Order: sequence, then structure tokens, then C-alpha cells
Amino acid sequence: MLSIAVPIIGSEEKRAVAEVLESGVLAQGKKVAELEEKFAAYCGTKYAVAVSSGTAAIHSALYSCDVRPGDEVITTPFSFIATVNPILMQGARPIFVDIRESDFNIDSSLIERSVSSKTKAILAVSLYGQPYEYDEVSNICRSKNLGLIEDSCQAIGATYIDRKAGNLGDVGCFSLYATKNIMSGEGGVLTTNDLKKAEAAKRFRQHGMIGPYEYAELGYNYRMTDVLAAIAVEQLKKADSFNRARLKNAQALTRGLKNIKGIITPQILESRTHVYHQYTIRVTEQYKHSREELINILKEADIGSGIYYPKPLHLYPHIAKLGYKKGDFPVAERVCAQVLSLPVHPRVSSSEIEKIVKVFQENS
Ligand SMILES: *Cc1c(COP(=O)(O)O)cnc(C)c1O
Repeated sequence: MLSIAVPIIGSEEKRAVAEVLESGVLAQGKKVAELEEKFAAYCGTKYAVAVSSGTAAIHSALYSCDVRPGDEVITTPFSFIATVNPILMQGARPIFVDIRESDFNIDSSLIERSVSSKTKAILAVSLYGQPYEYDEVSNICRSKNLGLIEDSCQAIGATYIDRKAGNLGDVGCFSLYATKNIMSGEGGVLTTNDLKKAEAAKRFRQHGMIGPYEYAELGYNYRMTDVLAAIAVEQLKKADSFNRARLKNAQALTRGLKNIKGIITPQILESRTHVYHQYTIRVTEQYKHSREELINILKEADIGSGIYYPKPLHLYPHIAKLGYKKGDFPVAERVCAQVLSLPVHPRVSSSEIEKIVKVFQENS
């Protein structure tokens, strides 16, 4: 089965892990510091703080932007659950704004009417690897004095004009989970140009520690280990070549699928590049088969696919109980019923791309 995601580990990662194991320092140490320095350089930010997951990065970012109990954070209802759970973990309230069909990201034209006196920040997601409408979102943040946090967990290396994901808002958040464009199994990184925010995140990942056994405030154990940082340092060197392979596969898929009736291929909006964490089509009613039928047709041809995401965030019970219901965000709800992601990762060969295209041509 051609799977939708595979971790790609080379001899470099294995050697780097062995070196850490032999060094005797397994927890947070020199490798974590090296990862932070190289990650910041890659994104073009002054600082990077490594943590234990993308979720921990988002939680720490909210803390560093001073989001506290009772505050509101504006975000998208169409993302992974880990976008919204840290808002709740911080005691704040998620305020959803519907998405645009074109890029699946937050619809910036709908944000302003959702800003209230309690709004502290906007948490914008670069879904599937394409940056959100940064110019408009950041203008709103500036005029309303809001923090801008980027969930760039799927977007390492993506650009908006001349800036990389992670260097757009006040704080960027990345995940190194096993399926991401670069990975270390589990892990996360926060990026920022603001020393105070970097320091706040470093406190937060270590129980709020400000000195030896001195704790200023509640914090967590969100540290990364040197073993995982060693993998991530090697993966980071490969980020651009991995992303080029994804782009090449995505372009070949789009060429092959663009004339299939009822299938809508991904759209790249002006001024940005897409790193195709997912290559996501929309299966509309004009297509010959239902999405479920298509998944089975692909499966019979040994081609894996995935639905990211089957349900909008506002309809999960622990979030719906805040007062959300079906019908609140019609675009997000509609695309949840249409999206299907196809294999695009660097290990998908051009003959496998041709095979995927052929399956669509024979079933259109
Ligand atoms: C992966 C991901 C996260 C969370 O990352 P973890 O490392 O799994 O905690 C958050 N947001 C988005 C959009 C993601 O894809």
C-alpha cells in the first residue's frame, strides 16, 4: 500500500542519535541548543525554543503572548484539534471564524466582526503547508493591538512574499511529529523575534523556572530531549530537498487531475509558496463517485488516502458545549465532507504519481 505519510530516516540521523547516546546527556542539552540556533536561522527569526510537541509550542506561544483565563483567541474551525486545545488549556475561549474555500485558511474578511474587548490574539493556521492571508490578518492585529500566533506545524519552509513561515506573526509554532515534513517522532519548536517571548516560552517549558528552584508562575515540563533534537538537526538540513520533492509530486498530480470532472485540485494564492504537507483535493457532487467510493477505488489500487479533517473543530463535544452548533461555519462544514488527501511525500515516485492519475482517469 502506498501510504499517505512515511518518516524518512537516513544514516545521518542514526549516527547523530548514536553520538548523543554515547555522550551521556540524554535530556535537554547541547543538541537542543544547536537545534534552536539552526531552526531560527532557517526561519529567519532571532530566536527558537524547542519543546516536546507542536501542541506544547502552541500552548507556550499563547502563554508568551499573555493569553490568560477569560481571554478570547480567534482561530479557524478547520484544523487539527491541537490548534484549539491549547487555547482551552490556557483557560481562554476559542472564537472561530470561517475559512475560504480557495486555500482552506481563515477568511480574513470575516475576522474583524469577531474581535471583542476580550480578544487577545489571532491564532492563524497555514493549513496543508500554505501560508494564510498574512497581510490582511496582520493589519487587523496591528490596528486592534492583538498578538499574532502562527500554527505553522504543517508549513516549515513555506513563504509569504520574502518571509518564511514562523517569521510572519509574533510567534510561530512547529511540530516535529512523525508524519510532518521534517520530524523527530515527537517534538515541537517555537520561533520569535521578541526576546521577552522567547524567555517566557523557556520559562513555561520548565515549570515557570526563573532560577535554581525558583518558580515565578505555573509552567509545564515541555522540554525536548537531545536524542530527538539530534534527529531534528539532521532533518532540518534536508527540509528544502524534501519540500522540493513534495512540490514536484504535487505539480504532477495537479497536471494529471485538473481535467477530472468534479475534482478540485489545490489552489496556490498570490505571493506565497506551498510546501504540500498534504495534497488535498475536493471531491464535489459533480464527480462520478462519492468520496467514500473513491477512497475504496484507491484502496483497491493499493493507494492510501486520508481525510484531514472529517469534522470541524466547533462540533467536538468539549468545544461545542461553549455554544457552537452545526451550521455556524458553513464553508468549513462543507469542505470537511469533500476533502481527500493523496500521497505526495518525497518517497512517492513519479510512476506512483502516474498510477494515481490513471486511477482517476479510469474512474471519471
Ligand atoms: C501536527 C499539528 C499540530 C500539533 O503537533 P503535535 O506535535 O502533534 O502536538 C498542531 N497543529 C497542526 C495544524 C498540526 O498539523
